[in-house]
Amino acid sequence: MLEVADLVKHYGPVRAVDGISFSVKPGEVFGLLGHNGAGKTTTIRLLNGVLRPTSGTARVFGLCPINDGLTVRQRSGVLTETPSLEERLSARQNLRYYADLYGVEASQVPGRFEALLQTFELSEVGDGRVGGFSKGMKQRLALCRALLHQPELLYLDEPTAGLDPVAARRVIALIREQSRVGGRTVVICTHNLGEAEQICDRVAVLERGKLLAIGTPAELARAYQHSAKVLIEVAPETIEQALACARGFEGVEARAENGQLSLTGLSRQRIPELVAALVKLDVSVYRVEPQEASLEDVYFALHQRADQPPQAHPAPEVKA
Ligand code: ATP
Repeated sequence: MLEVADLVKHYGPVRAVDGISFSVKPGEVFGLLGHNGAGKTTTIRLLNGVLRPTSGTARVFGLCPINDGLTVRQRSGVLTETPSLEERLSARQNLRYYADLYGVEASQVPGRFEALLQTFELSEVGDGRVGGFSKGMKQRLALCRALLHQPELLYLDEPTAGLDPVAARRVIALIREQSRVGGRTVVICTHNLGEAEQICDRVAVLERGKLLAIGTPAELARAYQHSAKVLIEVAPETIEQALACARGFEGVEARAENGQLSLTGLSRQRIPELVAALVKLDVSVYRVEPQEASLEDVYFALHQRADQPPQAHPAPEVKA
């Protein structure tokens, strides 16, 4: 569906996208993660043919987004960071207006509107002015608009930004449905790592225009397992001694959390070594609980690594 090779976009001295390569399969939900300014939106604009790359190539449906921009955009839908709807018009009028712009056949318009409004739970408010809608309703209407021309590929830039948890959950469920039921390919830019973990088949982490890692959330968690926490419950009177002992292990950060040791930087393989050291010091160990690395743990480990000199920590291999 998407093939990106050594893609570069400079804005003057700013390397917004700096030599990234990845591909996305049909039907996949692919997440682009990264801090503000990492290059996510620029990547989407390059894929959609709105921006011309400085160098490198992008192929969407096997087509060049610059030379075949119209076809590429006719086959893709975009939800930008702000919904930008016509606030004085009703939801139905908004859809009619954009259907005209998209060139949706008039005979298909009413049926398609109603199906979309129903899917996105907006049928009953379809004649209400959009200016009076909540943020969640506007976001759902913007999703309807992105789907009006039945695109095969959907780009979603921060689809739940500014939504309350209930509205965000509804939007996420609807997006997931687009891939699982509708078979659409979805590329989603987000800062919400929990959401990305729930919804994305694979994610790419960007930092200052470069790709730090790419893989399924589970693959990344395995590769960065050392960044996960290990919780160790010890006898309360020995906790200071246990902390000092754990801090003596190279690369381990230890602190007391809810009366137990909370460690990061300790691989599973080194747990028995630490427990043996604690027992040798007469620390009573009651429980050892290695936690699975979450996408959030991975994300922070990757950014910490990116801030260090490259030779300090060779990157673990993550399947591209
Ligand atoms: P955010 O999460 O804040 O939306 P992002 O990951 O989408 O960020 P981009 O918007 O792609 O990041 O921006 C990448 C870099 O390019 C940033 O340093 C940004 O300031 C710069 N940039 C983006 N658009 C332009 C532009 N039109 N002119 C100059 N610099 C730009």
